[in-house]
Order: sequence, then structure tokens, then C-alpha cells
Amino acid sequence: MNVLLDEQEVRQGVNRMAGDITAAFQDKSLTIVGVLTGSVVLLADLIRLVDLPMRVGVVHASSYRGATTIRGPLVINSDLMPDISDRDVLVVDDIFDTGNTMVELLSLMEKLGPSSVKTAVLLRKKARCEVDLQPDFIGFDIPNEFVVGYGLDYQDAYRNLPFVGTLEPDEINSTPP
Ligand code: 5GP
Ligand code: MG
Repeated sequence: MNVLLDEQEVRQGVNRMAGDITAAFQDKSLTIVGVLTGSVVLLADLIRLVDLPMRVGVVHASSYRGATTIRGPLVINSDLMPDISDRDVLVVDDIFDTGNTMVELLSLMEKLGPSSVKTAVLLRKKARCEVDLQPDFIGFDIPNEFVVGYGLDYQDAYRNLPFVGTLEPDEINSTPP
């Protein structure tokens, strides 16, 4: 494992995002919607740092399936979605890679009648973007490498790491802990 962003750097980035989000949603009816499963750690930290009244909900989206890091078809399960009609929504995800997940989530949200929808991600792989959309709040731009930790997984492992790291080739080729 190589550390890309250590625990302190991640904390500083999340603090900065929380400050920007607090400033942007003054006097709004904020609902933060975390994208499961990767956003759980960011969601838990962010909602305690954003100094505003808010509602919190989740939606499930998944695209990485099976034993590889190759992207499968996107599946969104909105059964858990809170009522966002007339709310100012902030969608929170772990990482903006090609951007396709965020675009599909936004088109789902728009159908539910919110007042506004903005997006926040801890990480963005700028070079990989395939869509005409950028997140409104970004923790860090990172190179085009597969990362784990702070919510991000490889085969559901490593989500609990307090830092963001990249896997060694032997860690990608073997069954994770
Ligand atoms: P996108 O639709 O933007 O290409 O992909 C977004 C989703 O893909 C993220 O929510 C995340 O689940 C997954 N993803 C993209 N890049 C990475 C990565 O480097 N590591 C991990 N663990 N997941 C990633
Ligand atoms: Mg995800």
C-alpha cells in the first residue's frame, strides 16, 4: 500500500469542503444525500463539520463488480432515497472518476422535484472525465490511479483505512483481507 493522502491531509481537505458547504447553504433547506457505499466515511465526517441544520439520506449506486477493477454497468437503487421535493440537495460521493455515476444520479434527483442539486466529492480524477459536469465541491484532484481507503474499496476491503492509498500490483492480484 502506498499512501497518497495521509490522515491529516484528508482531514484538512474535508474541513475545507465543510467550510465551503456551510457558506454555500446558508438559509437553504439542506438535505445531504450520501452515495453508498463509498461515501460512508466522508458522509459521517462531513455532516458533523457542516455547521447548519440539515436532513441526511442515502442512495445506493454501484458499478464495480466481480474480482477486477474494471467498471461494470451502473446500478442505482433509490429505495432508500429521502423525500427531496423543495429541498436544496447536496449529493456526496467518494470519487468523481468518469463522472457517469454523478450524471445519472443527478438525472434521478431532478425527477424528484428538489429546489436545487449540488455535488461534493472527496476525490476527482480530472484526466478521466467523460461528461459535461464538474462537482461543486472537491477535496482533492488525484492522478489516474486506483485508490482505496476512507470509504473506497477493493472488493469491499480497505474502506476502513483512515487514509487514501494506492494498491501494489500484488495487492490487486490477490484476494484482499
Ligand atoms: P464514475 O462513474 O465517476 O466513473 O465512477 C464513480 C464511482 O466509481 C465511485 O463512486 C467509486 O465507487 C468508483 N471508483 C472510481 N474510481 C475509483 C478508484 O480509484 N477506487 C475505488 N475504490 N473506486 C473507484
Ligand atoms: Mg461509489
